[in-house]
Amino acid sequence: MPNIDWNKLGFEYSPTACHVRATFKDGKWGRLSLKKASTINMSIAATCLHYGQACFEGLKAFKCKDGKVRIFRPEENMKRMNDTAKYILCPEIPPDLFIEAVRKVISANMDYVPPYGTGGSMYVRPLLIGTGPRIGVAPADQYDFIVLVVPVGAYYKGKIKPVDAIILNGYDRAAPNGTGHIKVAGNYAAGLHASNIAKKMGFPIVLYLDSQSKQYVDEFGTSNFIGITKDGEYITPDSKSILPSITNKSLQQIAKDMGIPVVRRQIAFREIAKFAEVAACGTAVVITPIGRIVFGNKILEYDQEKCGPTLKKLYDGLTGIQYGEIPDRHNWLMEMK
Ligand SMILES: *Cc1c(COP(=O)(O)O)cnc(C)c1O
Repeated sequence: MPNIDWNKLGFEYSPTACHVRATFKDGKWGRLSLKKASTINMSIAATCLHYGQACFEGLKAFKCKDGKVRIFRPEENMKRMNDTAKYILCPEIPPDLFIEAVRKVISANMDYVPPYGTGGSMYVRPLLIGTGPRIGVAPADQYDFIVLVVPVGAYYKGKIKPVDAIILNGYDRAAPNGTGHIKVAGNYAAGLHASNIAKKMGFPIVLYLDSQSKQYVDEFGTSNFIGITKDGEYITPDSKSILPSITNKSLQQIAKDMGIPVVRRQIAFREIAKFAEVAACGTAVVITPIGRIVFGNKILEYDQEKCGPTLKKLYDGLTGIQYGEIPDRHNWLMEMK
């Protein structure tokens, strides 16, 4: 058994027993194997290193109330990873290979899944990278598909705390016809500069408007934007340059199940001052309520003390399903044997 203080876990990398890996070579995928080392050998001219030919995903597995471990919607991550792969000319991962890899790595690291009741979970990180050499810009002829796991803690120990977001003039996350809709590694390198500026100013997250007109809300640096209007609607942007979040998709379904109307459309920046609740959503944190949004000399204020009531209901609805406390009506969980 690993010696982990489950209550002290954050969202930090730590090595586990092993990861799984398969290599694509000579036009086909090889078999999955478990690797104990947490390092990889590759050509110094690998395309992932030079030209960012790298796709990643993030999903979670949970130790449920009944003691079983369940994975949350892995097929969705499989589809999205293949959308990213297609766009940056990586070979697609056969669906069965993706699911087998996720199951195998969790199975081999069962001791690292945080116990039920700690609020923790097993974060699963699939990675698809060009490992073959190229010096001219072109797709590689060799790839590695890796799935690693990291035990992570409850993001919010105790009560959910709102954070402040900033919109920075002069920085875009994604071009109108760029790569904002896929989970390609380079998007995140491109966002580090703005996020560093924001952090120094005391803002943990950056909100991006659409790069073209700067009128509409796109999303936060690594999470989708959701709002609750004064009329009690769930509202989230429709944009070609945002990442289709599986958490957002799941929350929309939960909202509908609760009788909350769901609206997906362009959202003008000037509208959001009137929203009752605003949050960022994604796998890592589920829902992060936003206390303030600062844009130049404008300051929009929401509840700075706690999560708003509707967002809290949605948060409890999703985490309740994930930990097996609420029936899984939509068959989102895949059980580990
Ligand atoms: C991964 C990611 C999200 C969240 O997606 P989930 O599937 O909910 O984890 C949102 N926005 C960006 C830019 C992302 O990279």
